[in-house]
Amino acid sequence: MTWVSRRCTVAAEELVMATTESHPEIREAVRKLCARFPGPYWRALDRERAYPTEFVNALTEAGWLSILIPEEYGGAGLGISAACAVLEEIHRSGANGAACHAQMYTMGTLLRHGSVEQKARYLPKIARGELRLQAFGVTEPTSGTDTTRIQTFAKRGGDKYVVNGSKIWISRAEHSDLMVLLCRTSPRDDTGKTSDGMSVLLVDMREAKGNGLTIKPVRTMLNHATTELFFDNLEVPVDNLIGREGAGFKYILDGMNAERILIASECIGDGRFFVDRAAAYAKDRSVFGGPIGENQGVQFPIARAHVQVTAASLMVDHAAQLYDAGQPCGSEANMAKMTASEASWYAADVCLQTHGGFGFAEEYDIERKFRETRLYQVAPISTNLILSHVATHVLGMPKSF
Ligand SMILES: Cc1cc2nc3c(=O)[nH]c(=O)nc-3n(C[C@H](O)[C@H](O)[C@H](O)COP(=O)(O)OP(=O)(O)OC[C@H]3O[C@@H](n4cnc5c(N)ncnc54)[C@H](O)[C@@H]3O)c2cc1C
Repeated sequence: MTWVSRRCTVAAEELVMATTESHPEIREAVRKLCARFPGPYWRALDRERAYPTEFVNALTEAGWLSILIPEEYGGAGLGISAACAVLEEIHRSGANGAACHAQMYTMGTLLRHGSVEQKARYLPKIARGELRLQAFGVTEPTSGTDTTRIQTFAKRGGDKYVVNGSKIWISRAEHSDLMVLLCRTSPRDDTGKTSDGMSVLLVDMREAKGNGLTIKPVRTMLNHATTELFFDNLEVPVDNLIGREGAGFKYILDGMNAERILIASECIGDGRFFVDRAAAYAKDRSVFGGPIGENQGVQFPIARAHVQVTAASLMVDHAAQLYDAGQPCGSEANMAKMTASEASWYAADVCLQTHGGFGFAEEYDIERKFRETRLYQVAPISTNLILSHVATHVLGMPKSF
């Protein structure tokens, strides 16, 4: 062994120690559960754009979707880093947690800002999986990322709000009993700050459907159960207002750090899936009389993808640690999401290239995961908006909007 290769081996051992995966027992249990839902299960659903009911039921029964709910309400009361381990393993297995990841964190708006009565009424049932709170209605067709310009309006009359307007890209709305909905309760021009005058309502979808709420599925390039919503004089009891009227934008922002960190961990899982599959295929596939992986032109991109996924995972761990310690982590959560989504996308591209023509075949699951992981550079927040946050809030450069 040469000095250089010995140095590299030592460094690699140190790196493995530094990046030892957290929550090994959680990871092991989630891996076992996911092994019951292999590629053919996901492929069949993808073809039909169907919802993975059996997979979501299995996660619910095992308690994985309620791990962030405090023990007093029947959850496991664990931190976000434990939830990250769950989602990373789901994605590393080739599955997709997007069908239900919001069941983990959407309840945070209720937990942090709901009344004592609301929490007692809903959280234990959410923890038991009897109530699904996994729809989150913010985005609108005309306002896009500029949330202060949403137009869905809730007008108060007596003990009810009457809601009119529409939302787009509202995922899992057909598979949710409750929805956290952001609407205007005062016109934008009547408020001192443009972010004032928005409120959060907890909408009971079971009562709303057909009584003022219409849900229209939107078929996309991936199996994501996303929809468009139309509100036509939908009545919502005033009791379902979360927190203070007019302060809803802040409540929604409060939940975004958790969402970004958790979705970043899904990207890490995707990235590891692609690196694992690419390395295995490169060792196995033989052309020109030897494995394709002996060519550095094939090796190096896979090694680079591994480096990028590993670096991104450290950023996700850092953001999760800050979050669990109750420290401010907005910039870290954003940067982790951006780095992880870019690392998983690079790994996806490399994995596809490594597989050559077979990467395009459905049965390898590469093309499906390739489509799935692309979403995370757009949702829940697009890369440009993260760069804008870093440029202005972290680096102090002038604002462009
Ligand atoms: C499959 C899917 C599921 C989704 N699920 C949900 C959900 O459950 N609930 C929900 O509320 N929303 C959901 N979304 C919406 C998602 O959060 C938005 O699509 C995303 O935030 C981008 O908003 P937009 O599509 O309106 O893009 P736009 O705001 O129209 O932006 C378009 C492009 O322009 C760029 N851009 C815009 N403004 C600027 C600027 N000032 N400077 C530089 N670049 C800019 C953006 O980065 C983006 O690339 C989902 C979206 C998808 C596709």
